[in-house]
Amino acid sequence: MTVPLLELRDLATHFPVRGGVLLRARGTNRAVDGVSLTLDRGKTLGLVGESGCGKSTLGKTVVRLLAPTSGQILFEGQDISKLSRRRLKPLRRELQMVFQDPAESLNSRHTVGNLIEEPLIIHRVGTAAERLARVHELLELVGLPASAAERFPFEFSGGQRQRISIARAIALGPRLLVCDEPVSALDVSIQSQILNLLLHLQQELGLGYLFIAHDLAVVRHVSDTIAVMYLGRIMEYADADGLLARPRHPYTRALISAIPSPDPNRRSRRTVLEGDVPSPIDPPSGCPFHTRCPHAEARCRSERPALRQVARDGATDHLVACHFDL
Ligand code: SF4
Repeated sequence: MTVPLLELRDLATHFPVRGGVLLRARGTNRAVDGVSLTLDRGKTLGLVGESGCGKSTLGKTVVRLLAPTSGQILFEGQDISKLSRRRLKPLRRELQMVFQDPAESLNSRHTVGNLIEEPLIIHRVGTAAERLARVHELLELVGLPASAAERFPFEFSGGQRQRISIARAIALGPRLLVCDEPVSALDVSIQSQILNLLLHLQQELGLGYLFIAHDLAVVRHVSDTIAVMYLGRIMEYADADGLLARPRHPYTRALISAIPSPDPNRRSRRTVLEGDVPSPIDPPSGCPFHTRCPHAEARCRSERPALRQVARDGATDHLVACHFDL
């Protein structure tokens, strides 16, 4: 049996909420609360949900920028959830992250060449001449001229800066890239260029992506499988085409109904969800979605639905966290 690139088992990341003069613990933010997911090598798992659902916390936990509270993170079969900083260091080559805003993630006081070379220096890769050749190679791989190495990030457009961030993220030859809203800050016309670049790099380098976004229209463009997250939990998981064609969870259906159709004659009715996402500090009892679900019944308020298999799309189980077959 092939070992998945990434497997999350009942992963939770909680934060204490403090308040008052003495900053006493007042509660717990259950940002990620029992997530189990699998990503195969060279594939893309899309993670979608509204702001505040815990998807960025999950991404940072996967690359161990945050420590999990419980559960396991298996990277190529090895549990990395409790590794010390020293034992994590070699794994940093394999697990990298691309952030939403390249203006924040790229220090504008350094040249582009220095920024891309930095991870190579930290991990003691090659001589100065070999690293410079690698920087030029990476720039060309992401569609920028080698001469960009001499310039500063602020001299580039938002899309070009995201290309620089991606070059930096792949400098060490990772196998998993966590992309956290990588195109959300970009114009629509530039978004597709960056998505196509990510797809091209995946084919060239065999990268696996955990692709996080609030916009299902973006996620479906790049994903093989999609997980829908709400209040720190997975509501639905399926093959990307199966999820878009046959969504089972009311939350997924609402997200899909919000995708604009390019054909004005085929516009479907949008399902508008009432109210805001409840706080993960005081989540609803039972089904976390029951306060906004148009199908909620008494059982939904008291009993949390398990993530259960309802179908199989090709080789992928279609899983839904709902008591009913809607
Ligand atoms: Fe809606 Fe109940 Fe299903 Fe939750 S379990 S999604 S509240 S019908």
